[in-house]
Amino acid sequence: MSADGHLAALAPVFPGTVDAAGQRATLGVVGGGQLGRMFVHAAQRLGYFTAVLEPDAQSPAGLVSHHHIQADYDDPAGLAQLAGLCQAITTEFENVPAQALQTLAQARPVAPGAAVVGIAQNRIEEKAHFVACAGLSGVTCAPYAVLETPAQLQTIQADRADLLPGILKTARLGYDGKGQLRVRTAQELAAAWAELGSVACVLEKMLPLTAECSVLVARGWDGEVVSFAPQRNVHVAGILAVTHAYAGNMPPALADRARAAAVSIAQHLGYVGVLCVEFFVVEDGSDHGGLVVNEMAPRPHNSGHYTLDACDASQFDLQVYAMTGLPLPQPRQHSPAIMLNLLGDVWFDAEGQPRQPDWRSVLRQPGTHLHLYGKEHARPGRKMGHLTITGPDVARVKTVARRVADLLGLPGLDAS
Ligand code: ATP
Ligand code: MG
Repeated sequence: MSADGHLAALAPVFPGTVDAAGQRATLGVVGGGQLGRMFVHAAQRLGYFTAVLEPDAQSPAGLVSHHHIQADYDDPAGLAQLAGLCQAITTEFENVPAQALQTLAQARPVAPGAAVVGIAQNRIEEKAHFVACAGLSGVTCAPYAVLETPAQLQTIQADRADLLPGILKTARLGYDGKGQLRVRTAQELAAAWAELGSVACVLEKMLPLTAECSVLVARGWDGEVVSFAPQRNVHVAGILAVTHAYAGNMPPALADRARAAAVSIAQHLGYVGVLCVEFFVVEDGSDHGGLVVNEMAPRPHNSGHYTLDACDASQFDLQVYAMTGLPLPQPRQHSPAIMLNLLGDVWFDAEGQPRQPDWRSVLRQPGTHLHLYGKEHARPGRKMGHLTITGPDVARVKTVARRVADLLGLPGLDAS
């Protein structure tokens, strides 16, 4: 079905409406993680029923959805059940089998589509896309080389000293810094590739980052696009720790460039849904004009969680609007915000003993919004929830964020 066909097939359906077969308006999501949970909440607020396809019986999204289809993401019966229940379907995690989305798209509108998700799942294709639309977006990615064969390894070792020191990244299935190794020499490169199982990789030049930021874009079936202002992100050990979302979080000219680049990347892809584009800010005087595109996520993103509490439409609201063909409001941020990720580490004390975080003290601080994802077991590095701090001005938000980070022992705020 074409994008237009999808739109025609999808007259927006609202609460209380029941179709000819007696079925309630239902939206589906492939994947049961926290992004799916927050999508489900947004869809339900608009009166939709929801269905989640997720093998885990105790998933964050499955636990809060009207329907939970407990099956693998590529299980034909599960996919058929999802398509049968839902008027439109989306996905919440990057590594959903693109084939599953293709199967679903034969029956229902699916946003984002299998083709664009497939590009975002593979760093080689993703970077090729960034290079292809560099003329339009005005930004390119870090210098890199594709490494898929021993012959390519030899060529890189012989001719691409310019990429060292670098980061070797698996083309597929990387997240939160997993599937990445830093290499300084040609010998280390060979060893790192072997350690990663000699799978398809890219070797990327290590850039002198001064900051990182990301931009959330939503694009509808009709090509209408809205976006949020760039948020500045701080990673600790490869995992997002802090997001700064307020005017002045980065130089305005750079913010404008990043936002325009993200919009043109979404347009060039013919993307439908919510897309997050991550950027590096590199030291001035580089060849890159200060801004380099890193990667994109074909879904809402951890760095956009602040939109739930600081904007009049969240990234999850926009996911619902985009997939259902509803008008896309240009979101307005009404409060400055800092988002602090809550990893499983917070549930352990300095001696490694389990503890209950002191939520009472945290919630006593003005403007704190606690989100917990309903995960039963805390593990170090596992995303258990987040806190958004909002306030009347940036200074007060920073003060409260500092206090909360100290109370919980959260990292990343100093590096900002
Ligand atoms: P995500 O959780 O965002 O999906 P990921 O595992 O896909 O992460 P990347 O975003 O590629 O990985 O890299 C993780 C972090 O490592 C980046 O946010 C950045 O801090 C650092 N990094 C990655 N590539 C480079 C580079 N070329 N130069 C310097 N730092 C880098
Ligand atoms: Mg990343």
